[in-house]
Amino acid sequence: MKNLSPFFLFVLLISGILPVSSIAQQNQQKSRIIVIGAHPDDCDSDAGGTAALLASMGHAVKFVAVTNGDAGHHKIQGKALAERRYAETQEVAKRLGVTYDVLDNHDGMLMPSLEVRLQIIKKIREWNADVVIAPRPNDYHPDHRYTGVLVQDAAYMVAVPNIAYDVPALRKNPVFLYTRDRFQRPNPFRPDIAIDITTVFEKKMSGLDAHVSQFYEWMPWIGHYEADVPQGKEERFKWLMKQYDEQMAPDIRASLIKWYGEGKAAKAKYAEAFEICEYGAQPSEADIRMLFPMLVKQ
Ligand SMILES: [Zn+2]
Repeated sequence: MKNLSPFFLFVLLISGILPVSSIAQQNQQKSRIIVIGAHPDDCDSDAGGTAALLASMGHAVKFVAVTNGDAGHHKIQGKALAERRYAETQEVAKRLGVTYDVLDNHDGMLMPSLEVRLQIIKKIREWNADVVIAPRPNDYHPDHRYTGVLVQDAAYMVAVPNIAYDVPALRKNPVFLYTRDRFQRPNPFRPDIAIDITTVFEKKMSGLDAHVSQFYEWMPWIGHYEADVPQGKEERFKWLMKQYDEQMAPDIRASLIKWYGEGKAAKAKYAEAFEICEYGAQPSEADIRMLFPMLVKQ
């Protein structure tokens, strides 16, 4: 259906020609997605391909880092590091076609406090999000874990007007999704939704490549593989792409088959997967296909 004017939609609705669900569909043609990660590179790693795909289809995607990343380096620290990492996020924003906000909370010291919960509630409301994507609260890193808790804590409160009343509450509760992790306890991640990102894999990787301080400096240092990082820009990008060239897990492949059908799923080389959170709106399969219109059975 083409875009119709609000007045015409109203006339159709009161005349009974158009069911309410179709009106919702009209308003939902462009999804508004907010991805919330602990550090200024987490959203990119967990959902960069999905974000790039959605952005290329005209949907609105925002990344939010809950900390400023000022602990993520072995040679630089404090404000200088936070500024460098902020500049990296803005380069990612250009490369992926998203907007990227960084909250000024210290890296490595995040607490699931009321203050940060309110910051997150406001970000979700200001973006008028249909979908909120964040980590599960099971993780080795306290910042990742508490980001999961903070977003869970915001899931109901985004709709409560008396909380954070300086930003209007959402009248519809967004769908909350968890990003993929490999932690098994207390329960393993469940890939309810899998997005084929094969066509945008290189773009996703170009987003990670923009985090020079992380993928080519800090992570190799803390992981003791500094000597493996090639010197030239092209060479190191190729090296980075290779690090992410892994065999697709069987449960992700099974989810791709559900959403795309056997043929397309068989051809997919790279995917990102998400689990539906029990808090927030509970989407039907049709809702998910509307929010992620790239999920087409072939
Ligand atoms: Zn992180």
